[in-house]
Amino acid sequence: MFGWAGRRLRVDLNSGLTSIETIAEHTLANYLGGRGLNSKVILDEVSPGTDPLGPDNVLAIGIGPFNGTIVPTSGKLTISAKSPLTGIFGDSNTGGYFGSELKFAGFDQIVITGRSSTPAYLYIKDDHVQVRDASHLWGKNTWETERMIKEELGDERVEVLSIGQAGENLVRFAGVVNNMGRIAARAGMGAVMGSKKLKAIAVRGTGSVEVAYPDKFAEACYKAHDKIKSASFYKPLHTSGTLFLLRHTNEVGRLNTRNSQQGWFEGIETLNAELFHAQYKIKNRGCASCPILCGHAYHIKKDGRRLVGNAAEYENIAALGAMCGNADLKTALLASTLCDQYGLDTISTGSVIAFAMELWQRGMLPGEDIKGLDLSWGHQDTIISLVNQIALREGFGDILAEGVQKVAEKYPGSEQFAMVIKGMPTNVGDYRSTKGGALAQAVSTRGADHLRGSPVLEYLGITPEESEAIFGNIIGKDKARSVVDYRNYYGKGSLVAWSENFMAVVDSAEFCKAASYWASLDFLGPSDVQAMLNSLTGFNFSESDLFKIGERIYNIEKIFNVREGMRRKDDTLPVRWFTEKQPAGPSKGELIEAGKFEEMLDEYYEFRGWDKEGIPTKAKLQELGLQDYAPDQN
Ligand code: SF4
Repeated sequence: MFGWAGRRLRVDLNSGLTSIETIAEHTLANYLGGRGLNSKVILDEVSPGTDPLGPDNVLAIGIGPFNGTIVPTSGKLTISAKSPLTGIFGDSNTGGYFGSELKFAGFDQIVITGRSSTPAYLYIKDDHVQVRDASHLWGKNTWETERMIKEELGDERVEVLSIGQAGENLVRFAGVVNNMGRIAARAGMGAVMGSKKLKAIAVRGTGSVEVAYPDKFAEACYKAHDKIKSASFYKPLHTSGTLFLLRHTNEVGRLNTRNSQQGWFEGIETLNAELFHAQYKIKNRGCASCPILCGHAYHIKKDGRRLVGNAAEYENIAALGAMCGNADLKTALLASTLCDQYGLDTISTGSVIAFAMELWQRGMLPGEDIKGLDLSWGHQDTIISLVNQIALREGFGDILAEGVQKVAEKYPGSEQFAMVIKGMPTNVGDYRSTKGGALAQAVSTRGADHLRGSPVLEYLGITPEESEAIFGNIIGKDKARSVVDYRNYYGKGSLVAWSENFMAVVDSAEFCKAASYWASLDFLGPSDVQAMLNSLTGFNFSESDLFKIGERIYNIEKIFNVREGMRRKDDTLPVRWFTEKQPAGPSKGELIEAGKFEEMLDEYYEFRGWDKEGIPTKAKLQELGLQDYAPDQN
C-alpha cells in the first residue's frame, strides 16, 4: 500500500493481549487517517452513555498518509476518545516525531481498550509489541517519564507519548505529552490514559513509506515547501512562533482578559513576543518535516536554578497571562512549563484559574474551599500554586481539577461567568467581535474550539473581490463578499461549515493547521493537499472528493454527540458574549446579537444538510454513505 501502512494495532489492557489487523482500503479512502480514522472507531466502538473514565471507553491514536514523508509539517497525530471533560466526542492533536516513528513501525492507528490492573506502558518495536510494567514510572512527570523510558530501552530514537501526574490523578483536562513540550492538550485524553493505568506509549520503527509516484510527489512537496516559505505568516511564525499573536489579537480587541471580562489587556507591554526574545528564548524547535519550526525553547530561573522549557506558545502564555490578569511573562512561562511537565492543558488550566479569580472578585467562593489562597487578579504565587494543586489534586486544586463546567455547577449563580461551550473552556480569543469565529466555537464537535473551523479570513484583511474569487462558487457571491468583514453575520454559517470540512481533511491527512488555510490563505489549500495526496497514495481524489471526506468525518463526530443528547440548544456561546458589551479597547461596544446568532446557526445547519435541531438528516447521511448511522429521530 502506498502512503498508508494499512494496519491497526489493537491492545486490550484487561488481558494484556495485542493483535494486528488490516485496515480496508475503502476505509482509508473514506476517512484518510488520523482524526477521521479515529472518529469512526470511536463512533463504532464507544456505546452511548459510556463512562469516559471507565474501562469501556476506547482510546485511539491515529496518524495519516502524510506522516513519515517529506510533506511539510507532517509531524502531527490525533488522540481520540469520549471526553471526560465534556462527556461528548473528544480528540486532540499534537506534533513532534511520534507519528513518523509509528508509520515506520508499520501502523496507521493504535486502538486501546480495557484497563490495566497495575501501571503499564506500551512498547512497540516494529511488529514486536509489549505491555510492560510502569510501576516505577507512576508519579513521574512527562519529562522524567520520557527520559527514563529511553534509558530503559537503551534507544534515544524511541518516541514517547506519556501522561504526567495530572493524567494519573484523572484531572479532567489532562493531556498527553511528547518531545518534552508537544502536547495533545484538549478534551482530557491524558485522563483517559490515566483511567486505563496506561502511563506511556513508546515506539520505534525501522520501515519506510512507499510512494506511488515518487517524482510527482517530490515535486508537489517542494512546491508546498516553497509556498509555505513565501507565505506572509512564515516569517513571524518562524521568528516568534505563535507568540506574535499576543500583540496582534490585543490590537483588534480579541485577547481574552480576566476571564473574558474584556478583550483587551493593558499589561501587553510586559507580555509579548519581543520581551520573550530579549530575555528568555534559546532556539527554535519543530516537528517532523517542518520548515516553519514555530516552537521555541526558553530558559527561566526557578528556585535559583535554570529551568529549560520547550513550548512557548500564544495560547499558553495568554491563558496563564492575560486571562488570569497576569502581566508577568516569567510567571506565565513557568506555569506553562509546569503544565507541560504535569501533562495539563494550559488553556483549560488558565481558564479554570481565571474563573476562580472572577468568582473570588464577586465574593462567590466560600473561605473553607479556597483555604487561605489570595485569588486577586494576576497574583503570581497563586497561579503557580494552583497549577501544582490542580495536577496533584490537592486543596482547592482538587475542585478546579474537575474543570470550569463542574466548578460552575458547584457554586450556584456562577454559571453566567463560565466561559465554556458543551463543557469545554473557550480558548484565549474573545469572539464578541468576530462573528464567524464565535459560530465556529459554538458548533464544534468537541465543544468550544478555535481549531475546528474558525475562519480567519474575516479578520485577515482580504478584499471582498479576493474572497469572491476563492469562495464565490462555494458559498455564493454575496456571502463570499460579506464574510471578509468580521462584524458581519451573513455568510458565516456557510464559511464555517466549509472550513470545518477542510480542517477535517488537514487533521486526517495529518499535517499542521499552522501551515494551512486555517492560518492564512497563502499557506496550503485544497489543491496542494490533492497534489501531494494523489502522488503519494496513487488515488485520484478530486478536490470535491476531499471535501466529501471532510464532511463525512464531521458528520461521524456529530452523530456521536447527537447520540449523547446534544441538540441545537447546546450549539451556543457563553452567556457573557450575548449579554455584556466589550467594555474597553478596540472592540468596545461589540457583543453577539442573539437573534442574528440564531440566523447564522440556521444558515450553518442548512449548508450542512442538517435539520433545525442540528441533527444530520437521513438524506445527508445517505449521500455520505453513513445511512447505517442515522439517528432514530429522523
Ligand atoms: S508549524 Fe509548529 S506546530 Fe506546526 S508542524 Fe511546524 S513546528 Fe510543528
